[in-house]
Order: sequence, then structure tokens, then C-alpha cells
Amino acid sequence: MARLVRDVADFPTAGIVFKDITPLLADPDGLRAVVAGLADAGRDDDGRPAVDKVVGMEARGFILGAPVALELGVGFVPVRKAGKLPGETHAVAYALEYGDAVLEIHCDAVAAGERVLVIDDVLATGGTARATADLVAACGGTVAGMAFLMELSFLPGRATVGDVAVTALSVV
Ligand code: 5GP
Repeated sequence: MARLVRDVADFPTAGIVFKDITPLLADPDGLRAVVAGLADAGRDDDGRPAVDKVVGMEARGFILGAPVALELGVGFVPVRKAGKLPGETHAVAYALEYGDAVLEIHCDAVAAGERVLVIDDVLATGGTARATADLVAACGGTVAGMAFLMELSFLPGRATVGDVAVTALSVV
């Protein structure tokens, strides 16, 4: 799987080595294996789905999260950058590895008490994942777990997200 993720130097800014997952997305066997592995983070010990929703962040969390939701037989909820969702939203401002941003979720996307699996491609500083957990909480839901294709272990992602089960299919 790691061979299908390509390092791109100085993207999007100088000094950043970007993990480009597009070769993986173009490989059906690799993509299928990744979706299955991420979905396992949303199952109980007997292999049954243990979440009510999958939440994925714009934009690569959409690509991975929607098939994970189908695999688990639950709905998918997009977390989007500011101003993209048409309905009433909760919003959270957060710091990125490179810059600042605001993420939003539809207020009615997660019902009170629902358990959620958060899916994204890369856990870096953890700011995006933390903001997403805050949005789920604002809806009244609970983050049962977070699953990523790749964790950048030289950044404090796990510490930033705090007391939540984090799964990473690959750690670099
Ligand atoms: P964080 O908020 O943890 O610092 O950054 C994670 C978010 O930025 C994720 O939504 C992820 O898609 C994106 N991101 C940060 N660094 C990379 C990277 O090297 N490769 C990819 N594909 N996404 C990244």
C-alpha cells in the first residue's frame, strides 16, 4: 500500500513533503484493501458495524469515507470547508499544518447519541480531525473512532485528537 503513495516535495508550500494518494486511488486492488481496512475500524469484535454514520472531511475524506460507509451499511456525512454546505451548519475554526481554515457540518447530519467513525486520508497535526470531532459533538454525536490511511508520526496528531481510538493503516 505504501508504494502507492507518492512523496511530492515542496507541495503545497516549500518545506512540506506531501503524501499524494492519487496512485492508490487509481489502483483498484489497493483502493479495495484500504476501504476494507478502514471499515474494520467501525466494527465490533464480532465484525458487526458498530457505528451509525461515517463522517469524512473535504476532500479526500469524501473519496475514502463514502465507500467505507457503504461497506459498513451506514450513511455518509460530509464535513466541508466554510460556505459549501447549503443548510444550517455548525462551524469550527482550526489551524492546519499550513494555514488556517474553518470546517462545517450540517446541524442535522448526525443525530443526538449517534456513534460516528471519522475517516480521512492523512493524520498530520490532527487539527482537521480534532475540528471534525468538535463538529460531531456539536451535533450531539459521539466519535467512536477515527481511521486514516496514513499517520505522520513526526507530527502530534494523536495527542491533538485526544482520548479517541485512532487507527492508521500506515505510519510514517
Ligand atoms: P492536519 O489537520 O492533521 O494537520 O492535516 C490533515 C488534513 O490535511 C487532512 O484532511 C489531509 O487530507 C490533509 N493533509 C495534510 N498533509 C497531507 C499530506 O501530506 N498528504 C495528503 N494527501 N493530505 C494531507
